[in-house]
Amino acid sequence: MSDRKDGLQTEIDTLQKHLAEPADECELCHRPGGEPLWEDALCRVVAVDDADYPGFCRVVVKRHVREMTDLADAEQAALMRVVLAVEATLRKLCCPDKINLASLGNLVPHVHWHVIPRWRDDRHFPQPIWGAPQRTASAPRAAVPRHELAGELRRRLGAG
Ligand SMILES: [Zn+2]
Repeated sequence: MSDRKDGLQTEIDTLQKHLAEPADECELCHRPGGEPLWEDALCRVVAVDDADYPGFCRVVVKRHVREMTDLADAEQAALMRVVLAVEATLRKLCCPDKINLASLGNLVPHVHWHVIPRWRDDRHFPQPIWGAPQRTASAPRAAVPRHELAGELRRRLGAG
């Protein structure tokens, strides 16, 4: 009897731990995920430190939502407007060969979009940046100063 009780209690503990996981252990609920460039009530745009990928930004929803369809319709539209403003900003200031937009969240299941300028001579091209490297390093490329990225975002999106 006591064994069964222990088993049940273990099951309850496991379930509670699983339910508590988002708020308690989610990296993006506790850290910005990069250097903040712009924000509003819904989301923040941050610059990612990655020597191979200057200009790499993320758009992170501020509250913990797991999937795009956990957002209200108006929030989905507002978030995509920000993602596209980041894309336009990077195209204008970084002049990449390609932009990669990605929302994966397999490791950190909290909605965030990666907006990544890509060049034919970068470390992974034409693979995704999480794929197998194609070169030992990206070709050297001057990074656009982050205050310029932030200024262009404000021009496109307002003060936030
Ligand atoms: Zn979270």
